[in-house]
Amino acid sequence: MRRSIATVSLSGTLADKLTAIGAAGFDGVEIFENDLLGSDMSPEEVRRRAADLGLAIDLYQPFRDFEAVPPDVLAAGLRRAEHKFAVMERLGAARLLVCSNVSPAAIDDDALAAEQLGLLAERAAEHGIEIAYEALAWGRHVDDYFHAWRIVRAADHPNLGVCLDSFHILARDVDPYAIRTIPGDKIFFLQLADAPTLPMDVLYWSRHYRCFPGQGDLDVTGLVEHVLRTGYDGPLSLEVFNDIFRQAAAMRTAQDAMRSLLALEEEVARRAGGSASAGGALPPPVAPTGFAFAELAVPSDGPVGEVLDALGFVRGGRHTGKPVELWEQGAARVLVNSGSAEGPDGPALGAIGLETPDPAASVKRAEALLAPVLPRLRGPREAPLDAVAAPDGTEVFFCRTARPDHSSWTDDFARDRRPAGATTGEITHIDHVALTQPWHHFDEASLFYRSVLGLRPHDSLELPDPYGLMRSRAVSTEDGGVRVALNVAYVGAHDGRYDLAWQHVALASADIVATARRMRAAGAATLAVPDNYYDDLEARYDLGADRHLLLRELGLLYDRDDCGEFLHFYTATIGRVFFEIVQRLGGYRGYGAANAPVRLAAQHARRTRRGPQ
Ligand code: MG
Ligand code: MG
Repeated sequence: MRRSIATVSLSGTLADKLTAIGAAGFDGVEIFENDLLGSDMSPEEVRRRAADLGLAIDLYQPFRDFEAVPPDVLAAGLRRAEHKFAVMERLGAARLLVCSNVSPAAIDDDALAAEQLGLLAERAAEHGIEIAYEALAWGRHVDDYFHAWRIVRAADHPNLGVCLDSFHILARDVDPYAIRTIPGDKIFFLQLADAPTLPMDVLYWSRHYRCFPGQGDLDVTGLVEHVLRTGYDGPLSLEVFNDIFRQAAAMRTAQDAMRSLLALEEEVARRAGGSASAGGALPPPVAPTGFAFAELAVPSDGPVGEVLDALGFVRGGRHTGKPVELWEQGAARVLVNSGSAEGPDGPALGAIGLETPDPAASVKRAEALLAPVLPRLRGPREAPLDAVAAPDGTEVFFCRTARPDHSSWTDDFARDRRPAGATTGEITHIDHVALTQPWHHFDEASLFYRSVLGLRPHDSLELPDPYGLMRSRAVSTEDGGVRVALNVAYVGAHDGRYDLAWQHVALASADIVATARRMRAAGAATLAVPDNYYDDLEARYDLGADRHLLLRELGLLYDRDDCGEFLHFYTATIGRVFFEIVQRLGGYRGYGAANAPVRLAAQHARRTRRGPQ
């Protein structure tokens, strides 16, 4: 399928937008009129620039408030149209988007609308131009796609067809199934946008919250399936109005957009019964099976080692070529890298390793989805490590740890002999990692983890923090072997201080009470939880007096869902990082989100007591 995008979806000047769209590999563009009006390029220059970038100008838009009007308004509309046709001829654009009339002057008369649109199509035909009529969800009299189609059908002009826009259809909860009854050659254009479910005025929702397919909650895939069933063979074109994308770097947004289309096409092919790669473009996804490691970048050895030691980790080896130490406990591995440049905020979570049955195939897919593949900086005898960069800069490594048929990254560590009497604690593996996203890359990040790694997104949550609101969305494999919590502080929260953008590594304990006691015995600080929390917990749940006392005594937090219970506690924060110790009892699926406000408040209180660092 041809892939196209509206210039309004990106930030910058028209020239910037075209460059970014071309670089991301699109076939065409919709030129948004305001972008042209504000540009110092003539239509001929825009046409040449687009052609040089390999871009067809698929659509010129929008032409507003034309149909179903009194004769004097019609005359003015036709005059306006002639000017647009002239601009389009200079641009080399052969299709004009006309959206349904929102003006109070519009008359509720389908026959009149059809007659006037037919007239417009007749004028357009003289210029070799086609009219694509789109029902806006807030059109005055025409606000659903089937109504627009009835008018187009009645007008019966070869140069008049409909433009379908997934947002306008799905936001209104209009059943898209009837799309299948529209002849494919009368669907002149298909615009795609997703959006999060938000109970708000549809016009405001559309202008500010549209996002790329796969980043919201609408079934864009299902709609595309209906459209393709009609025989439609025009472009899939993204048209997104989004406050964040308007500000983010155009190159990056264009890549994010392309990634969303590639993932969408794959999903359409999959639902159509083909294999996952039936779309032809993408190598199939390789599901990760667990965490191989979490890597902390630390300015120097120190508090991180002390905390790991107190948790029962053993320093298992030192990398033969880099200042990286491997700490192990069960299948949980933490790499402490003191070789990376010291960030201003102390230790940070710089990389995660994921176990995958086929690291090379994982990288191939990531690359096809435009993830930057990291150069392999390794010594001649080191095991190959395949890695890509996630949108927030986290390095994601694909590993096969200690398998006989694959060289293991752990071979690069000279194994220390375990100190005599070293104990093994209760930690069994990494349960999840929580990565804080820059606010303008949050949707991009969730699409990245979903499409590149095949992780399933869970509901988006809002968590109150004493100084703002935190947005959080988890993504995970079906079996929970890999879970990533993506967090973002709302704009303005924390005054832009990145050191407050905490990250954490959650370690699963088979016996969290023993782990908490072990921390205590080692004299290691854990996050103090206020008594008020425990008073409230007793009000919410009857866990028996002994258990309530134990939770309070050890500073354990508690949550439950339909499937089981969750116990957790936190270490002190070091730089931007802390550890969370968790125990899932039964099939608990969450992340203790109900306790996040208490945790955030306690962390802020602790930071404030210590004063600025
Ligand atoms: Mg539209
Ligand atoms: Mg957590």
